[in-house]
Formats: sequence, structure tokens, C-alpha cells
Amino acid sequence: MNHMKRGCESRAGKGRQSIQLPVINLAGNQESGIRKSKTSRWRAATLVTVNLLMVAHFIQWRLMRTTISPIEPSETMYTLQQGAVNAGFIFFALAILATLILGRFVCGWGCHILALQDLCGWLLKKLGLNPKPFRSRLLVFVPLVGALYMFVWPTAYRAFSKPDDEPLIPQFTNHLVTSNFWETFPSLAVAIPFLFVCGFMTVYFLGQKGFCTYACPYGGFFSLADKIAPAKIRVTDACNQCGHCTATCTSNVLVHLEVKQYAMVVDPGCMKCMDCISVCPNDALYFGFGKPAVAVPKTLGPARLHSLTWPEEIIAAAIFLASFLAIWDVYLIVPMLMALGWATITTFLALRTWRLFRARDLAFYRFSLKASGQIKHAGWVFAGFAVLWIGLNVHSGWIRYNEFEGERAFQRIQIPDELALAQANPGPWLSEIDRQSIIVGTKHLQAASSLGFFTNSAALSKLAWFVYLAGDADRSLQLLALVTDYQQGQAKALSLYYSGAILNRLGRYEQARVTLERALAERPDLILAREEMGEALWQLGRKDEALGVWSDAVQRNPGLVLANNQLAGALVSLGRPAAAIVYEKQADQVTPENPLFHWMIALRLANLGMKELAEKHFQKAIDLDPSLQARRPN
Ligand code: SF4
Ligand code: SF4
Ligand code: SF4
Repeated sequence: MNHMKRGCESRAGKGRQSIQLPVINLAGNQESGIRKSKTSRWRAATLVTVNLLMVAHFIQWRLMRTTISPIEPSETMYTLQQGAVNAGFIFFALAILATLILGRFVCGWGCHILALQDLCGWLLKKLGLNPKPFRSRLLVFVPLVGALYMFVWPTAYRAFSKPDDEPLIPQFTNHLVTSNFWETFPSLAVAIPFLFVCGFMTVYFLGQKGFCTYACPYGGFFSLADKIAPAKIRVTDACNQCGHCTATCTSNVLVHLEVKQYAMVVDPGCMKCMDCISVCPNDALYFGFGKPAVAVPKTLGPARLHSLTWPEEIIAAAIFLASFLAIWDVYLIVPMLMALGWATITTFLALRTWRLFRARDLAFYRFSLKASGQIKHAGWVFAGFAVLWIGLNVHSGWIRYNEFEGERAFQRIQIPDELALAQANPGPWLSEIDRQSIIVGTKHLQAASSLGFFTNSAALSKLAWFVYLAGDADRSLQLLALVTDYQQGQAKALSLYYSGAILNRLGRYEQARVTLERALAERPDLILAREEMGEALWQLGRKDEALGVWSDAVQRNPGLVLANNQLAGALVSLGRPAAAIVYEKQADQVTPENPLFHWMIALRLANLGMKELAEKHFQKAIDLDPSLQARRPN
């Protein structure tokens, strides 16, 4: 038996503690006499199957256009917020239940991100690089905070903010089957970097389970459930503390110490891969039921490894938070999970670079970064990469700041969209706050969109609105046309609707019709686009088609004020006043007693030449607010 001792990287730091393993030559298990795990092949096969099933699910949807909704825990958010019961929610609920009994089997044997992490760890070992765990005492809470934010906060927020007559638990609806499988996922252009950052880079910098330990919100709940689970890796008297189990564990669990101390593995990071059982030369480990981890008092403290001193921990938490806020949702493309993984890497790089300039000697893997106070070639490469990476964070933070300020200005806009879109120039209706917000918002969104590395569809679509309000409808149309190339689903349909509405106001009815057709192809239920479509057709002289579109809109939603008025006005114009009365009454029943709302309807009807009905709404608006008399168009 090889009794080489492993010194820990933590030796360099004051306040950090080290541990010595009895057997460990991590360069290769065969050399160190550790037998090969028999279960690792089974697990690899299972994880490959999981990935193949995911690909098959995607292909089946592409071929048949309808499938089971994504089996992805993040979908649970839609169940909690909107009552949409989907396959992801059922899977996550069952996975937590299973973990409560058996521990983290689902993580170890069923997670596609873990498969990537294992693949990366395996590739690195083939290259002779053994990922070392980064051990932080504060950042380990990130997954739990992430889980609370994703799954508990929306419900709590709803409880406090919902109207009194709304139930706390939303009405459940069936979303087990979907035709829009990819709707809640990022585009492939985001998914690939996401998998690379979370599945590979986290392993390279933070150790084999870097993403699980410091970023995955699902892991936050799985860890808690694991502590309660009665099924554990347990030990018999045959253990001689050889350390093979710890050397093999890719979840960085100190197996030999834990089983000595507690007679079982209590670390919630244990993914139940069973490798330790398989490699134990004395067959001392087994998987069995008994006391859960919460039931045993923890006394392992001094043996724990820490990569950071307490002041470094606090700095690490601050860097993590800053990086996360800079990256999350920047350009409206970076998902939360990717931002969490990204921020852990930023934290590691920043602290390691700091140490590079302070320590006398520093190594990363087998590369010497600094020796006897001299920064080596590898050290400069490391520092260069870290500066680039941190620079990317700073740039993203700056973009995010401009997006945030632009959004704040956007939220301050007072003029209702419907009124602004009722005429080609909304200028006379703008308040002082509107004018100020347009100036401030345009400045920030211009900066966010022109100096970003990617087309910023979030910033550009708001900028298009500011530009329209400022009176430049043509430029607004150009911006919206640019944005729609990068959008999909609801967002794309809305941009096309706004383009169509502006084109209608500019009298470019054929262009409006084509644009609105695209909006409705994207989202057939977008009633606003249907109202505008009827308007374009009416102005093009295709009056029967316009009637058909408005009738369809009213059939879908009898409470539509504008569509009912358009339909009534159209029937009067076509000499069918008796038929018009039904729709006029239907509209009057639901029209709010709001002068601006009546004014908006009046403007739209006047534009269509439906003078009689327009006059009725102008008059009603003036009755409610006599000051509007002065604004009356000739
Ligand atoms: S913690 Fe998250 S990423 Fe890691 S195995 Fe579990 S579910 Fe997968
Ligand atoms: S459990 Fe087995 S592998 Fe682990 S220290 Fe004991 S004898 Fe060695
Ligand atoms: S402690 Fe054993 S079962 Fe748990 S992750 Fe480590 S090797 Fe796998």
C-alpha cells in the first residue's frame, strides 16, 4: 500500500486547516493500489442514457410538434406562480420525495449537468490534471438561497401582493403536454455556453462538483432532503482507515473520516454514486437504512478543509454577488443558473489572482504560477485570463446598469400605450415626467444597445418605444425590425404588433397587414394584433375580410371594447345599423368611465371614417373631462 501523504493547497493561508490522507496518489488510482469502481461504468451508462433520452424527447417534439412538457425542475416555477402543472414539477416533486428517503440518487444517477461535470473531470484526468475542490464556507449557501429565490419567494411575494379576492394557491391547469417545448429555454446560442460554463469551467476551476456545490439551486433542496434521508453510506468494523474511499470520491466527501466519526457519510454533497463502496478493499462500506444525518451531532470541524480565511470568505461573497448581478439576465439572455456558475468562477479567479501577487509560491494544478516570489510564465497567462474574465464582468455590469436605468425610465412613462398608438404623433399627450423619462431612458438604452457585445433586444425594444414617443416613428420601426430578428414567441409577436400599429397610424396599410399577419402567425391569440389587422384590411378596402377579423376577435373575447366598436362602426358604414346595435351595446357595458379611454376609441374610429360612433366617444370623453374640448381634432 502506498502511504504517500497529500498536502493540501490550504497550507499557504493563515486560518486554513489541512488534512492528511493515509493513501493518496491522485495521479492514478492504479499506481496507488486503489481498485477500480465497478459501479462507475453503470453510472456512466445511466447518465449517457439520460442524455440520449433528452435528445430523443427533443427530436420527437421536432417531428410531431407536440410532446410532454420539459422534464426540468425549473418548470416548477410556473406551477407555483401560475398553477400550470407540468412534467418538470412532477419530476422535481418525485425527486425530492425520493431524496428524502434514499438521499441524492437523482443527482448522482439522473442529472445531465452532473454528467457533463463527470465527463469534464474524466477528460481532465486523462490529461493528467486532477480537479481540486475549492472549499468555501460562505458560498456553499448559494444553492439554498437560489432555491428559496426560485421556489419560495414567488409564493411569498404572491401572498403579500395579491388582491384580496385572489386565492393564494393559483387554480391548477394541465400543462403536461405542450406544442411549444422550447418556450421556457434559452436559445441554442445561450444553451451551449451555459453547458460549457456550468458543466466544464466550474469543474476546471472549482473541482469536480463545483457547479453542484456552489451554484445549483436544485442542489440546495436536495442537500436539505439528504440530511433527513435514513438511507446512507454506512460502515462496518472492517474499516482500517486506508483512505481509498476518500481518494475515489468525486464529490469531495471525506469518506474515511466521516465513517470513522459517525459510522456513516453525513456530508449532503454525497451523490450516492456508490464508488466508495465498490473500491473499499475491506468491503467495509454498505448502503443501508438507519439514523439520518440530522440526528448525529457534528464534531468533525477541525478536520475540514477550507480554501479561504474568514476575511477572504467575506470578500469572496461580495465578489460573487457583484459578478452575479452583473451577469444575470444581461442582454436578456443569461439565465440565472448560468450566472450562478459564472459568478463562482469569477470569485475563484479574482481571489487566486489576488493571491498570485501576494503569496511567495503558488501553483494551479501541476503548473507553478509563482515560485520564490517570481511570477512564472503560467502565472502571467493565468492573470491575463483572469483580467479578461473580470473585465467581461465589469463590461456586463455596465450594460446591466444602463439596462436597469433604462427600465426604470420606461416604468415611469405615464401615457397609456393605447392612447400613444391612437395617433401618429403622441407628442401633445406627453406629460413632463414622460418627456424627462424619454430623455433619460433613451440615453441609457442607447448606451446599453450600442456598446454591448450582442444585439440587445431588451434594450432595443424599449428604445423603439421611447423613439416613437419622441416623434420619430420611422426610426422606431427600424429598431423594431432589428429586434424581431432576435426574438421569438410572445416577445416577437408583441414587437410585430407594435410595428403593425405604427404602420397603420402612418397610413402604410399594406405593410401593416403583412407585419400583423406575422404577429398573428407567432401568437394567434394576440387580440390587439387582430384589432389592428382589421383596421389595415378596412383601410385597404378589403371590408369583408376586416369584418371577419373583428368578428373573430369578438368571438374569442366578447368583452373587447375596441373590437366591438370597430365591428359596430363597420356594420353601420355597410348599411347594417340593426346588426351594429348588439356590438355597440356589448362595448358600452364594459367601457371604463375614463375620458382618455373614450378619446382613444374616438380617435381610432375617426381614423377609420366611422364618424358617428367616433363622435359619441369624443362627446363622452369631453363630458367626463371638459378640458379635452380644446384638443378636439377638426
Ligand atoms: S446539484 Fe444540481 S447540477 Fe448537481 S447533480 Fe444535483 S441537480 Fe444536478
Ligand atoms: S471504508 Fe474502506 S476504503 Fe474507506 S477507509 Fe475504510 S477500509 Fe478504507
Ligand atoms: S461518499 Fe461515496 S457514494 Fe457518496 S459521492 Fe462519495 S464516493 Fe459516491
